[in-house]
Amino acid sequence: MTKILIIEDEETLIRNLTDKLSADGYSVITSMDGEEGLELIRSEKPDLILLDIMLPGLDGLSICRIVRNDASTMHIPIIMLTARGTEVDKIVGLESGADDYIVKPFGLGEFLARVRAVLRRPLPGRGVPQDELISNDLRLSLTSRRVYKADTALKLSNKEFDLLAELMRNQDVVLSRDLILAKVWGYDYYVDKRTVDVHVRWLREKIEDDPSKPKRIITVRGVGYRFEG
Ligand code: CA
Repeated sequence: MTKILIIEDEETLIRNLTDKLSADGYSVITSMDGEEGLELIRSEKPDLILLDIMLPGLDGLSICRIVRNDASTMHIPIIMLTARGTEVDKIVGLESGADDYIVKPFGLGEFLARVRAVLRRPLPGRGVPQDELISNDLRLSLTSRRVYKADTALKLSNKEFDLLAELMRNQDVVLSRDLILAKVWGYDYYVDKRTVDVHVRWLREKIEDDPSKPKRIITVRGVGYRFEG
């Protein structure tokens, strides 16, 4: 059974997340304190950590760094639960090592989709790395960096390839422009958010049957994009 640890000091949120995850078949353990949470990470070795930032004891960003620097826990995926604004900047700016973050308040449906997406990702050093991402007639090979649509090879730029891979890895999950920028362009330098829109447009020209009526990469107004297959 997949074990998820929630470290969060808002009681109502813990209760809601626990109910949702338990109903979806996950085993859930919780802590409302940073130091105790870190102990649980070490003793329980959960499959996923949901981590609040402002916590009594030890804050979430410190926990994240400690987990990433410890060989016995560094592979455990982490989703940060954050407040809007400056906390998001901290996660992105400090290269905290989180796998994903979700901004409060969030819907439980979106939350569950994020959890599933992170758990689906191949973990370094665990099992055979997944080489191919396949969705309907689209096939992407991560090692050869080739993309085929109905067995016809597509010519994609490096960034288009990385963007498509990120979208396909997170099928049915809404990815914000910020998250796409961080994942595809990296945390290191500033890129205009419209860069994402431009690359999505180019990508649609190549993978959509009718780029003016996209059915694969869907625009989610005011948020970002969702890959639907
Ligand atoms: Ca908190």
